[in-house]
Amino acid sequence: MPEVSSPKRRPLIAANWKMNKTPSETELFINEFLRALPPKLDSDVVVCPPFTSLALARSLIEGTAVALGAQNINENVSGAFTGEISPAMLVAVGCHYAIIGHSERRQLYGETDALIKKKIKAAFQNQLTPIACVGETLQEREANKTLEVVERQIRGALEGLPSAETQRIVLAYEPIWAIGTGKTASPAQAQEVHLAIRNILKDQYGSQTSLSVRILYGGSVKPDNMAELMACEDVDGGLVGGASLDAKSFAEIVNYKSKKRAGQ
Ligand code: PEP
Repeated sequence: MPEVSSPKRRPLIAANWKMNKTPSETELFINEFLRALPPKLDSDVVVCPPFTSLALARSLIEGTAVALGAQNINENVSGAFTGEISPAMLVAVGCHYAIIGHSERRQLYGETDALIKKKIKAAFQNQLTPIACVGETLQEREANKTLEVVERQIRGALEGLPSAETQRIVLAYEPIWAIGTGKTASPAQAQEVHLAIRNILKDQYGSQTSLSVRILYGGSVKPDNMAELMACEDVDGGLVGGASLDAKSFAEIVNYKSKKRAGQ
């Protein structure tokens, strides 16, 4: 029988290095990572180093299919915001993506849904694609509040956003109990929430938007579990923390299809 082409969206796999890697460590990583990648990528691949490595990373990935992202942005254009970085500054050093509302920023720096909404708007105004993060704590999951929490975060983040922009947003479902803990959500747990997110998008923006938006899974993604997560209908990629710090391991995650074939 001829193979039926998959209706899935093009996968996106992003590395979130958090506060790790100096410029010289960035250089070592990117050179090794590029050597480990196949000539043609089946996914969009994004590396999000710390701000201090962005310019160098840009020069190293120039001419490759790997794109650059920031881990955070400020929602303002410019001015008296000591220590902050504007979206336009990030675009100027080559960023195409920005992670917004990561749970560490929500929990450690008090970012609210209202602030995240402003940051998403500012990203779009500067042609940066937001990778907007949502996810529940362990306590919320145990109290059966996962879908309620995620729905509140999504509605809060996207409120008032024009449909054309919403279609281009990337969402990342990152259960907080799975981040950096080694506990991955099972494919069934991930799929349940990803489908619920797609239904929220359908309800608010219609089928076309809900079918266009890429929803990444994040939370202890590793070379060994990427293929099974990607096999879920509504999982369109991964946002990878710890396992993206090692060039070989991140390249294996990006190459998850060949790993699956090898294991079959
Ligand atoms: C993250 O922080 O976005 C993340 C998913 O981290 P880890 O992969 O280490 O769980």
